[in-house]
Amino acid sequence: MNARAHRIKVREVVSETAEAVSLVFDIPEDLTRRFAYAPGQFLTVQVPSTRTGSVARCYSLSSSPHCDDRPTVTVKRTPGGYASNWICDNIEAGSILTVLEPAGNFVPRTWNRDLLLCAAGSGITPVISILKSALSMGRSRIVLLYANRDRGSIIFARQLRELVRRDPRRLTVLHWLESERGIPSARGLAGLVKPYRGYEVYLCGPTGFALVTKQALAQSRISARDIRQEEYRSLTENPFEQPAPAPVVTTTVRPAGDIASVRVEIEGRTHQLPWPRGKKLLDLLLEHGIDAPYVCRESACGTCVCRVERGRTRMLMNEALIDEELDLGLTLACQTLPESDELHITFDQ
Ligand SMILES: Cc1cc2nc3c(=O)[nH]c(=O)nc-3n(C[C@H](O)[C@H](O)[C@H](O)COP(=O)(O)OP(=O)(O)OC[C@H]3O[C@@H](n4cnc5c(N)ncnc54)[C@H](O)[C@@H]3O)c2cc1C
Repeated sequence: MNARAHRIKVREVVSETAEAVSLVFDIPEDLTRRFAYAPGQFLTVQVPSTRTGSVARCYSLSSSPHCDDRPTVTVKRTPGGYASNWICDNIEAGSILTVLEPAGNFVPRTWNRDLLLCAAGSGITPVISILKSALSMGRSRIVLLYANRDRGSIIFARQLRELVRRDPRRLTVLHWLESERGIPSARGLAGLVKPYRGYEVYLCGPTGFALVTKQALAQSRISARDIRQEEYRSLTENPFEQPAPAPVVTTTVRPAGDIASVRVEIEGRTHQLPWPRGKKLLDLLLEHGIDAPYVCRESACGTCVCRVERGRTRMLMNEALIDEELDLGLTLACQTLPESDELHITFDQ
């Protein structure tokens, strides 16, 4: 069992739209520190399955740690999907769910910059957490571009109206309804986002929406460096179950038998380990019984992010870190191989 998994009680289930519910969690006092989160992060929920034992699904926190009392996730039914429908059909106040601690790096590092938040459908979830946090923590301007099928499918419609009413000078909400304007097009979206060059962009929505939004941002000369994206997908790995032995990657840089040495600092402890060239850092740590954080193991979620303090490494894949973070020496443990002989890596920086 993953050491970061905990059984957590659902305090309340809130019906948001015909297809979406919010689960408000009651975090026991002894876990409040472990469930501290940043706006934009997600929880991973274990859902029972007669076919596979269980499946794991990530759900972004729609609550703000700065304005809401309890961590809350919002789940929208995926047509034909297993876990989202199971949650919507089975979870009620008092239900117990097994949940991993908060993770993810779709998180603003500062509240000083103006924000252009782009969301479609359930993609609003991390975005509303960022929006509420920015309103309460900063003074910048915030624009939300929010696409939905029709008026009835807008999650948090009332809450957004109330937030605009309270702070009309700082918050602008631009709705795109397919029922009125058709599927969002790059040209149509470009017309809306153009005035917001220089804003930092947070984008979350289905693949099609993300694609046209990025085209619209490019057409509006909004720099790719200013764009952060959260991609929703279902996990193929199950972080609640024991990981299968990891295959060793063949590396062309050095002979496979060659071994580097790494000092790892994690959760206040230091470990000195031999690091075989073809072994990914996360696999190395888990094999040594070290409780390293992870969820997807596919480079997408950013949970296993750590910093290379000394030595050179390389990543096999990277879907989570942007250039600015790479420049800071950040890397994803699930994809990292050693290049130097002596390395020093820290988690929790
Ligand atoms: C970082 C992140 C944040 C996210 N945040 C949110 C959010 O805030 N809100 C939200 O709604 N979604 C969110 N998602 C998406 C969410 O994690 C799921 O992908 C989504 O709910 C669809 O899952 P599903 O199981 O319902 O559907 P599917 O992904 O369609 O499920 C199908 C998959 O489950 C398997 N499956 C189907 N039936 C069974 C069965 N009976 N037993 C076992 N396996 C089965 C299939 O083989 C297939 O792999 C997020 C995703 C990520 C990565």
